[in-house]
Amino acid sequence: MTALYELTAHEQSAKLATKEISARELTEAHLRRIEAVEPRVRAFLSITAEVALAQAEAVDAKRIAGEALSPLAGIPVALKDNLCTTGTVTTAGSKILYNFVPPYDATVVQKLKTAGAVFVGKANLDEFAMGSSTENSGFHTTRNPWDTERVPGGSSGGSAAAVAACEASLALGSDTGGSIRQPASLCGVVGLKPTYGRVSRYGLIAYASSLDQIGPFGRDVTDCAFLLNAIAGHDPYDTTCNNLPVPDYTANLTPDVSVKGLRIGVPKEFFGEGVTSEVASLVQAAIAKLVQLGATAEECSLPATEYALASYYIIAPAECSSNLARFDGVKYGLRSTELAGHIGLTEKTRDEGFGDEVKQRIMIGTYTLSAGYYDAFYKRAQQARTLILRDYITAFEKYDVLLTPTSPTPAFKVGEKADPLAMKLADICTIPVNMAGLPALSLPCGFVDGLPVGLQIIGKAFDEATILRTAFAYEQATTWHSQRASLEN
Ligand code: GLN
Repeated sequence: MTALYELTAHEQSAKLATKEISARELTEAHLRRIEAVEPRVRAFLSITAEVALAQAEAVDAKRIAGEALSPLAGIPVALKDNLCTTGTVTTAGSKILYNFVPPYDATVVQKLKTAGAVFVGKANLDEFAMGSSTENSGFHTTRNPWDTERVPGGSSGGSAAAVAACEASLALGSDTGGSIRQPASLCGVVGLKPTYGRVSRYGLIAYASSLDQIGPFGRDVTDCAFLLNAIAGHDPYDTTCNNLPVPDYTANLTPDVSVKGLRIGVPKEFFGEGVTSEVASLVQAAIAKLVQLGATAEECSLPATEYALASYYIIAPAECSSNLARFDGVKYGLRSTELAGHIGLTEKTRDEGFGDEVKQRIMIGTYTLSAGYYDAFYKRAQQARTLILRDYITAFEKYDVLLTPTSPTPAFKVGEKADPLAMKLADICTIPVNMAGLPALSLPCGFVDGLPVGLQIIGKAFDEATILRTAFAYEQATTWHSQRASLEN
């Protein structure tokens, strides 16, 4: 029999709605699951069992009282630990925030609270979301539930692993250059990076503000759509958050879903060097499947893609050097105990609190923004970014969605990518999408040697609905999403 924690969130939600199970039972089932598998997976930085049980009981009381409840009421959710939660330590994966208890909730956290979601814990991440494996976490490395010798991807590796290991039904992550989609791909779950501005970033500890976006993880497309419904929409606390109306993202996800006439573009630059032939052929097979279902597909070109990685690694560090200036040992977080005067205190605190990857990026960022280098690096990177965006605008005149691999390879081994450049290449297929501010989703499209592979579906700005419809049609016609990591050995 399928265990409660193995069901999708919408299946769990249906059982809660008919009172076949209570939110408390569902939460307890997850807490037991966490106890059983967490020593091997290590998806969490903190497990918030008391918070979860209190939230579950509140939902049960409301249901008994006959109140109308959201489909997320009572559903166990993991939150990436760069999302501020009142009363619960929020570290962003950094020692510099080891003791930071935010005085406010991120807007997405507040929205999920209102919907009655149950928070089982704060998920691990690469420090300040900088990385692709969670090996840069200031605390520990999360393991891939499909093979615990391997990484779950990153930076939202804890969120993806928690969902793949059925420790949570849903999770939130953040994606600056691929941090939702790449771990979703490596862990065999569905992850969506919404359009820049679709979801409020208020209360997300900033990495690179012009690229960061919060989004959902689920074990299927419907679950992602439900979670997106709950978090999308205007927020007066984030001036970059758009006030376009939020559609019901689950509306098209019905058994009669159709992709007839859907125009698919397949950008050839995403099948180049580094993409393994196994990954490429699974993605091609997925495209063929959608064509069989009535879509049309043709190869296209996004020539500025070749500038994406280099310009991202100028823009993201530049923004991070500015965003991370606030961690000074004075206002909050770690404070060095060495007596060194004001400047010295800040220096020592930052030296002790930040990991190597973070320090490296701060240095690169301050360098590329400094007088004399700004024009040579930062300005040119912004110009390249415009070229990248123009490619997509042109492509979307002809196509409704673009299909690519999410990650060039399946999950790699812990320690395998010690070279920082090799690690950065893991995001070669996802970074261009953030540079253009577009929405994209990763969903499972097969396995190589027992390791999941993800298909990336890129859409027009604010057209998450078409991405979800395409993903759902593919999911209906395949069974990859119903496979679960066994974690038996
Ligand atoms: N791996 C990329 C980086 O380190 C992307 C991370 C992210 O999306 N947060 O910048």
